[in-house]
Amino acid sequence: MDDLLGPPCPCGSDESYRTCCGPLHDGASQAASAEQLMRSRYSAFAVGDADYLFRTWHPRTRPADVTVDPRITWTGLQVIDTAAGGPDDDRGEVEFTACFESAGRPDSLHERSRFERRAGRWFYLDAVEQEDS
Ligand SMILES: [Zn+2]
Repeated sequence: MDDLLGPPCPCGSDESYRTCCGPLHDGASQAASAEQLMRSRYSAFAVGDADYLFRTWHPRTRPADVTVDPRITWTGLQVIDTAAGGPDDDRGEVEFTACFESAGRPDSLHERSRFERRAGRWFYLDAVEQEDS
């Protein structure tokens, strides 16, 4: 990875953080799709940006206070499936597996998230119930 561009983005896009999720976290640009928002939220967990997580959480479902657990190290993201969530949609779903380490033990989170667009901006809504868990 080019040193000028800095470290690779935590979301695993093969781009640098500065050109991938960084501008979204800074508010310099907006996620254009549900998948992009989901990736940027994963990156926000990875870099500890609780403010971004709060800003991109749907007002209807977000907790009063969003915190990032500093004891968890996020180690990788894999997007499994997406449904809708594009420029012409108001809703979208993204299924993913996020890997992390907690207390030195590798673990993973498998979730199918729902997203909703309000006033042109994508927000995380909630998780779809998984029938395999
Ligand atoms: Zn990214």
